[in-house]
Amino acid sequence: MIPFLENKRLALIIPVYNEGKALISNFKEIKRILEADEINCLFHFIDDGSKDDTWQVIESLAQSHPNVSGIKFARNFGKEIALRAGIESIDADLYLTMDSDLQHPPRYIKTMIELMATSGADIIDGVKASRGKESFTHRFFAKSFYKVLKSITGLEMDNSSDFKLMNRQVIDNLREFHERNLFFRGVVSWVGFNVVTFEFDVDDRKEGASHFSFGKLVFLATSAILSYTSKPLYLTIISGVIFLVFAIIMGLQTLFNFFFGHAISGFSTVILLILITGSMIMLSLGIIGVYISRIYEEIKRRPRYVIEKKL
Ligand code: UDP
Ligand code: MG
Repeated sequence: MIPFLENKRLALIIPVYNEGKALISNFKEIKRILEADEINCLFHFIDDGSKDDTWQVIESLAQSHPNVSGIKFARNFGKEIALRAGIESIDADLYLTMDSDLQHPPRYIKTMIELMATSGADIIDGVKASRGKESFTHRFFAKSFYKVLKSITGLEMDNSSDFKLMNRQVIDNLREFHERNLFFRGVVSWVGFNVVTFEFDVDDRKEGASHFSFGKLVFLATSAILSYTSKPLYLTIISGVIFLVFAIIMGLQTLFNFFFGHAISGFSTVILLILITGSMIMLSLGIIGVYISRIYEEIKRRPRYVIEKKL
């Protein structure tokens, strides 16, 4: 037993979506390693509205293991919300969020706990040292996602992951976030506290494929940006100003031509200007529209998720 864990309950928060095939063996593997490391913990699964037998697997695990619990969403709400529901629905002193597919290798859990004990940190933040086996396109889009995110929000999240160990104080603060659209990694870095990062090597996925397709990644990227910052709204103002300057210069030139030259020659400029201003207006309207839809969603104050079953 790690001395730091005495009198502390550790809960593993594990979101699962259509992992029925691999879940039992993955659970056994995590359990085997934690037992070898003499770590006692609670396993808390969040079934993110799986369409396969994932929930039945969780139920059977809960029957045979007293430290297994779970909740089942009524539909797929996405991993971010699943993590959120996970930290809200179990009572513990330390919370560790991890993937179910062993890509967040359980052998690092002991290191994370010891790191927290020695450093006194509130958050141990897992950072990917290598990204494991990923398709070229996945790697490419993940890279571009983080680049865009960093340039817009200033959040440095390249190689960041949801493999995190957090103490109760951090979780209590995270529970205070009432927004519907929430980017888990974003809010964890937003709350601050004493963060210590540690690098881990991502293992390969043993069974199935990643659930994050190109479309989902794009959605996640926009969602992360929208929920974290309203900077894009200011970008439209800045670009508006830039084009106003252009317009003034071109306007002066047109006037000059009108009085001292031949006015017809400015025809192409007019077309260009119409095209540019038109697209700028559309773009700005689009960005404003997206934020308004966000406001609308938040203001409806719907529940963030719907739990169908509980264990
Ligand atoms: N997951 C989830 N809801 C989803 C998609 C994924 O709860 O809509 C879970 C999934 O079961 C896994 C974790 O999130 O435990 C990471 O998913 P995945 O391995 O597909 O993503 P990647 O490793 O490519 O980031
Ligand atoms: Mg994975």
